[in-house]
Amino acid sequence: MGVLLAPPQRGKMTVRLKEEGRMPMRFGLSARARACATAGLVCAMAAGCAVNPVTGRRQLALISEAQEIQMGRQASQEVAQQLGLVEDQALQQYVQRVGEELARESERPNLPWTFRVVDDPTPNAFALPGGFIFLTRGMMDLMDSEAEMAAVLGHEIGHVTARHSVTQISRGQLAQLGLGLGSIFFPEAAQTFGGLAQTGMQLLFLSHGRDAERQSDELGFRYALREGYDVREMDDIFATLMRIGASSGRSSVPAWLATHPAEPERIAAAQARADTVTQPLNLRRAEYLARIDGLMYGDNPRQGFFRDGVFLHPDLRFRIDFPQGWRTQNMPQAVNALAPREDAVLQLTQAQGANADDAARRFLSQQGLRPGQGGRQNVNGNPAVVAYFQAQAQQGIISGMVGFIEHGGSIYQVLAYTPAQSFRNYEPEFRRVIGSFANVSDPAVLNVRPNRVDIVQTSRQMTLSEFNRQHPSVIPLPELAILNQVEGAASVLPAGQWKRVVTQ
Ligand SMILES: [Zn+2]
Repeated sequence: MGVLLAPPQRGKMTVRLKEEGRMPMRFGLSARARACATAGLVCAMAAGCAVNPVTGRRQLALISEAQEIQMGRQASQEVAQQLGLVEDQALQQYVQRVGEELARESERPNLPWTFRVVDDPTPNAFALPGGFIFLTRGMMDLMDSEAEMAAVLGHEIGHVTARHSVTQISRGQLAQLGLGLGSIFFPEAAQTFGGLAQTGMQLLFLSHGRDAERQSDELGFRYALREGYDVREMDDIFATLMRIGASSGRSSVPAWLATHPAEPERIAAAQARADTVTQPLNLRRAEYLARIDGLMYGDNPRQGFFRDGVFLHPDLRFRIDFPQGWRTQNMPQAVNALAPREDAVLQLTQAQGANADDAARRFLSQQGLRPGQGGRQNVNGNPAVVAYFQAQAQQGIISGMVGFIEHGGSIYQVLAYTPAQSFRNYEPEFRRVIGSFANVSDPAVLNVRPNRVDIVQTSRQMTLSEFNRQHPSVIPLPELAILNQVEGAASVLPAGQWKRVVTQ
């Protein structure tokens, strides 16, 4: 939950709790979307044949280039809105410049190529159709040279030029994209239950398959090479990602490795291709590291963080307990939690209204929603309105509780719901969560600061643990080793090399 919370917008809030691309619940797919998918209406409208820019072969393309760009642009706006962009213009321009130069070498130089860094700590990179490419802050933290970045960007550009996403979308997902929530009565439920099914965010969860990945490697390699980058660096980023392993599970986007399995054969292939290169190639390591010096590392606790199931927000000065074992996610516009059995949802957002009463009235007067009993309460000193409701969702009646809590000049909405038949099981939990909203005064929470990457030069040859004694990091040594692309504490760092330190 960001400091500068935009007012929640209908149809823009989604739960993305799945890391593997499976959708949590499919309640929200509107009747209209389903009808279209079944009848193939949208597909019929858009069907055509096009020449694949990379292979030169004709293939069935259900989406024109203009549609592809429009879809990608729309999805990229959602990504930027939901994940947030890293607020560092110099960094954004740098990535844009390097990306554009690579894309110029591609088979589709005239797409509106856009390269952005999103504020997510998990190392990831992804491409949306039409030339909209994202790197995460976590990926920027991890990469060690401009050549590595070029290899990653080149690979993602390859997915776009070879129209991998488009081909996949053509196969089945077009019908779901770009359609509104249709007949859903209850927007919040639709947004949450519908989640991925309704938004361009699902594009992030596409995995392209082995052949497409191999092709993108090939293409990316070619683009980066034409720009004079040492593509052997691709190995390093793969090795680093493999050491990190799967993502922490707390991220909002799947880790790059999840969609890009670093199979040994792929790495071997990259090495073999690199070995054919004879001309001198650039790493541009110092340039890259200078750009990421001071970049945030890990989660940004100022935007709220979880500690043992408690969500703490230092800037907004509140805390709220989420149930143990629920999957939680802190998004710019909402904090979401999904029950282990995936049959109940909790969502914390900011609400609009003059006060809690007003916000509750607005909420409960939504069409399709049946208010139950409710009334004013005092939640740990904060004026609140708590109410029960039922609503008709696509696949049945859902029952829930909603609390509107005034705090620090804002109104917080805690929404909790489940299919009606499960409500009795969850009600005590829902009630406890809403009742746990409280002010925070602990200075340790209020003064928490994000970690940042510092680029430091080794004064002489030394081991990583010696380096760490000289320039203490706030992260464990094994993590520092991964971040610096070395084996471990005993690894020897040459003199005069730029290394990362993580400080607060
Ligand atoms: Zn890929």
